Formats: sequence, structure tokens, C-alpha cells
Amino acid sequence: MTAAGDVQIRADVPPVEVEHVSVRFGAIRALNDVSFTVAPGAIHAVIGPNGAGKSTMFNVLSGVYRAAEGEVRFGDARLDQMRPFQIAGFGVARAFQNIALSGTQSVAENLMLGRHHLTKAGFLASGLRLPRATREGRVHGERIREIAEFLDLGDKLHTPVGVLSYGDQKRVEVARALCTEPRLLLLDEPVAGMNAEETGRMAEAIREIRSALGISIVLVEHDMGMVMSLADRVTVLDFGRRIADGTPAEVQADPEVIRAYLGSGDDETPAEAVAHHTTDTPGTTS
Ligand code: ADP
Ligand code: MG
Repeated sequence: MTAAGDVQIRADVPPVEVEHVSVRFGAIRALNDVSFTVAPGAIHAVIGPNGAGKSTMFNVLSGVYRAAEGEVRFGDARLDQMRPFQIAGFGVARAFQNIALSGTQSVAENLMLGRHHLTKAGFLASGLRLPRATREGRVHGERIREIAEFLDLGDKLHTPVGVLSYGDQKRVEVARALCTEPRLLLLDEPVAGMNAEETGRMAEAIREIRSALGISIVLVEHDMGMVMSLADRVTVLDFGRRIADGTPAEVQADPEVIRAYLGSGDDETPAEAVAHHTTDTPGTTS
């Protein structure tokens, strides 16, 4: 049993253990001795102000950046020693902060790309329409429909991604990641640039993914308000260092977190500043 309550956690989901990770860009220490553990089946948020090191941590978890020091383990696997495609092969999927979809292709076509490594038939058999390929195609088609419906995209399967609303496109991005059948889902600022209604839908989708699939979800997020009702546990970064780690209520009350999130001298009390802190310029954080 975990903090997830009645959620059935998949038996093959190990913890993620980030230990003493440091990343430098020249003189900048983007991450400085950062450690935290993601419990199996947890929704774990990594938050912090702009420049805190969130995207860097996301890139370390997905193998895009190499840690100069430290380890990242996913069960027995040393993710810090793997390349992105190897990490994907271990059942780790990521959805990007900036949408990385093909706008001219349909939702279904984009989701099929997420399943490519799961197809055994391969290009040649698919091209020749051999029986195995057509049978496989049907099975994948059914799974894609399920995942699309799960993310409220069931009626948009044949719509080109480029004409969808921003919120829909972000949910396609998450659906594409789920199409790889991950054990660990990494989300980089899943609600950046979204309005309140879209944000609520995405938060609901994240909750449903965890409870239906029983996988772990790590989300990197600027907006503290969004993770308060969603995350089981929160790691707070500031200037590359871990300044807090705990339940949402614990980190929200932490004086160092309040200080880090304080704006440049507006009239809000610290608690209000934390509660109201949102992305000031949607979609422009890196
Ligand atoms: P966040 O996502 O929390 O806003 P980042 O991880 O993007 O923070 O950045 C952390 C720090 O590392 C910042 O000072 C940023 O300027 C620096 N940084 C990030 N990526 C690079 C890079 N590729 N080259 C040089 N500096 C970088
Ligand atoms: Mg970022």
C-alpha cells in the first residue's frame, strides 16, 4: 500500500532513486547534490521557481543530460548510465513541455508513432500488408483508441493535431507517451500555458492515469497550486539545490519554500504568494 490509497500499483514498478545528482553547465550548477525517491505508483512533483533546475532534472531522468555526479536508479537499472532510447526501453516515457508532435498528422498517426517499438511486424511486413502486420495493426489500433478515449480524445482520432486546441494537443502528447506502455511517466510542465479549465482537465487525466494504470508519475511543475491537490509527494528545488521534500502540506508550510516562491515584494503574505504563484508568462518557461 502507498499514499495512493486504494490504487492498485503495478507489481513491476520499482522506486526511482535519485542520489546526490549534480549537473554543471560551465560555471552554472544547474543541479547541486539533489536526492529524492519516487515511491512505486506515486505522483511525485518536482517544483521550483524559474531557473531552479527542474527541466535539467527532467532531462537527467530521461537520459538527455548526463549527471556529472550521482546516480539515478529505477529498480536495478542505472538510468544515469543509459541513453534516452535505452531508458525508453526500460518503460520510462516522457511528455515534453513544448509539444513535440507532427501537426499535419492525425491524432491516431501520432499515437501510432508512440507504439512503433512495440510492433513486431516492422516496416517491410507492414508495407506488404502481410497477415501478421494487419492483425497487429488492429490490436494497436484498439489500444490507441482506448488511450485516446481515456484522455478525452476519442472523437478526435482522425483530426490533424495542428488544428486542435492547445489543451487537446498537450493531452495528445501525454497519450503518445502512454502508448509506449510505460511503468514510469515523466511530464515536463504539463499545464504550462493552459487556462484554468484545461489545467483542471489535465490534473484529472493525470489522476486517472495513475489510478487506472498503477504506474509512477514524475511531474516537473512551476505552479505550486497545481501540484497541491495532485501530488503525493513534492521535492522543491531552488538554484539547483533541494530545499524541501515532503507532502504537499509540509512543503507549502516550509519557510525556505515560502522564501523561494516569494515574488519581488508584492503585497501578498507568504502563504498567499505560495498559493497564488502561477506561471507569469505562459509557455515561455524553459
Ligand atoms: P527550470 O526548468 O527550473 O526553470 P532549468 O533546469 O532550465 O531550470 O535551468 C537551471 C539552470 O541551468 C539555469 O540557470 C539555466 O540557465 C541553466 N541551464 C539550463 N540548461 C542549460 C544549458 N543547456 N546550457 C547552459 N545553461 C543551462
Ligand atoms: Mg523548465
